[in-house]
Amino acid sequence: MVLSRNQFDLVIVGAGAIGLSVARAARAHGLSVAVLERGTAGRGASWAAAGMLSPLGEALEPGPFLRFGLHSLDLWPDFARGLAEETGEEVEYRECGKLRLALSESEEERLRGRLAWAREHDVPAQWLEAEEVRRGHPGLAPVVRGALFLGRDFRVDNRRLVHALRVACVNQGVQLFEGCEVTTLLTADDRVHGVQLSTGEGVGAGRVLVAAGAWSGQVAGLPRPLPVRPIRGEMAALRPASPGGVASPQGGGLHPLGGPVLESERLYLVPRDDGRILVGATETDTGFDPGPTVGGLRRILAEASAMVPALEAALVEEVWSGFRPGSPDGMPILGQIPGVRDLFVATGHYRNGILLTPATAEGMGKLVAGEDARHLPEAFLPDRFFGPDDGSH
Ligand SMILES: Cc1cc2nc3c(=O)[nH]c(=O)nc-3n(C[C@H](O)[C@H](O)[C@H](O)COP(=O)(O)OP(=O)(O)OC[C@H]3O[C@@H](n4cnc5c(N)ncnc54)[C@H](O)[C@@H]3O)c2cc1C
Repeated sequence: MVLSRNQFDLVIVGAGAIGLSVARAARAHGLSVAVLERGTAGRGASWAAAGMLSPLGEALEPGPFLRFGLHSLDLWPDFARGLAEETGEEVEYRECGKLRLALSESEEERLRGRLAWAREHDVPAQWLEAEEVRRGHPGLAPVVRGALFLGRDFRVDNRRLVHALRVACVNQGVQLFEGCEVTTLLTADDRVHGVQLSTGEGVGAGRVLVAAGAWSGQVAGLPRPLPVRPIRGEMAALRPASPGGVASPQGGGLHPLGGPVLESERLYLVPRDDGRILVGATETDTGFDPGPTVGGLRRILAEASAMVPALEAALVEEVWSGFRPGSPDGMPILGQIPGVRDLFVATGHYRNGILLTPATAEGMGKLVAGEDARHLPEAFLPDRFFGPDDGSH
């Protein structure tokens, strides 16, 4: 790799949705930016995801995640429009809603609790009794007891998103280097001044952002390793067997365009405009074990056809897996690393990095440019893992 220059205002480690979107934002603030990517840009978790934009569906309780998620969702329409204007690339942003299905009594109880928070946050949500759900979605198995319709859970095509972000970055003059692995941050006098590559080459930077997804904990040179661990997820893409021959999970017609995402506590089915249905996902906390596995696929495929029996005849078009960047408390890690000037991190987005891309880009873009970053929640600051009693090591 030959770097066309060797000193940047900002070097970003990792070209996933997070690294690329912050690079684009920082460039818009006038910084010279290099993104260093070990493999191919946008082929990590951001490629493997299902693309649900699901603040209410994913929140475990009301709090900073739900607020930040709803804020990010508010940013999504302009974010998608802006990318399309800059690049000509559509990211398939769809305001489709989500049906959270109750398959057991306890699931129904938890969903009814979620309905209460939805109302507190002015999120349109409605409880549908079993009969009503089946009327709208006749392909669903009788086991469904009812469903919560979440009117502000949407979807996007995450692979198109990372492609568009890459094009936008390159168009705007971000320098993207692929096949370029960062091994260590270079620091002196409690300040970062660049990174070292696996080739031994150094790259100088006024500021450095670590956005290496599930691998962020492997980047050396921080006061402590970032406590990020990989949570593997396995998925499949199905194509319903024959137009007109198989009821779609979205109801009457086969083509799922415009239908809601369907989700239970064990599985989700996400429609794509091209007629495919994404099925996901497993969650395994066993390091960087490769996937997908027979066991993982067997489970999600069996669950899918139990939820929508007609999917038994669907074609399996693609299977894959990826590593979500998990943090000890399940929350993102966003902000400046305490004790090292000009060193920043944006990772730990776990199951929701696609949802949180616009809000992360907004907040981190401002922070690395030295501007007000009040949109970044305090609960996400890296400080919680860098104090003397952080309990994470
Ligand atoms: C199966 C699955 C389903 C998901 N579904 C959803 C969903 O529906 N909605 C949602 O919002 N989120 C979802 N997620 C989560 C989402 O994908 C992640 O939170 C998000 O993509 C993280 O983005 P990132 O840029 O931090 O990481 P990544 O996209 O993994 O990018 C990190 C990049 O850093 C590079 N890198 C690593 N180490 C180095 C190094 N030392 N030097 C240089 N480069 C390096 C990697 O090669 C990689 O390209 C899902 C994830 C998975 C796995």
